[in-house]
Amino acid sequence: MATVAPTSLSVLASPACVAAQENRLLGGLAEENLARIVAVSEFARFEGDVHLAGCGDKLTRVYFPVSGYASLVVTDATKSQMQIGLVGSEGVFGWESFTGLDQLLFDVYVPETLRALSVDVGVFRSVLADNEHWMMMHLEYLSRLFSVAARGVLCARFHTLEARLARFLLEVDDRHPGKPILLTQSTLSRLLGVRRSGVTNAATHLQLLGLINYRRGQIVIGNRHELETAACDCYRYRIAHRSRRPST
Ligand SMILES: [Zn+2]
Repeated sequence: MATVAPTSLSVLASPACVAAQENRLLGGLAEENLARIVAVSEFARFEGDVHLAGCGDKLTRVYFPVSGYASLVVTDATKSQMQIGLVGSEGVFGWESFTGLDQLLFDVYVPETLRALSVDVGVFRSVLADNEHWMMMHLEYLSRLFSVAARGVLCARFHTLEARLARFLLEVDDRHPGKPILLTQSTLSRLLGVRRSGVTNAATHLQLLGLINYRRGQIVIGNRHELETAACDCYRYRIAHRSRRPST
């Protein structure tokens, strides 16, 4: 198992340490453990529609987003895909490692941009093993991610595409509030697991209602309140069930 470097005050006060705390899970670490992780880790930045890792890939790094988001995607043998969850600064991906697995269970995409602290799996496990509170935070996060994924099955079966698209855009907006959403119809259709023509129709109607402005792969939310009304109740479910556990 990997060992971690000793803490130093310079590391504790470093901009990297401050930035790392933008991630909710890292913010739940005692300062000494946070400094130890940051000292032997690095920030990674990804831009564009990046396929970051594939299902079955060997786990060597765990990523804690501090801004932007990643999509966890399932893919079948015919390359049909659908997103099962977004991971932003509230969470982590590569979480399979704390269950003892050494392979990823999902494809991981960065549809827009992502900045994340990239941590060696051995270092992550070492700190986690000595910190029950942090372990419980991860287990709670994993439980909530599972509930969102399960809810997604119901959503794909029973909720209209327009309501699903509205919900998806709100979830993205929550992870970079107020910024334009830079997603092509092709990416949206892949993440929602539907035909591109369906995305076109749904986006066009939301635009006619004045809820979004969609032009050349750039979506601006025009009326967030009304978009929340148009979204399926999976959005309200996620908000109602997000963590209220104190991070420290
Ligand atoms: Zn839904």
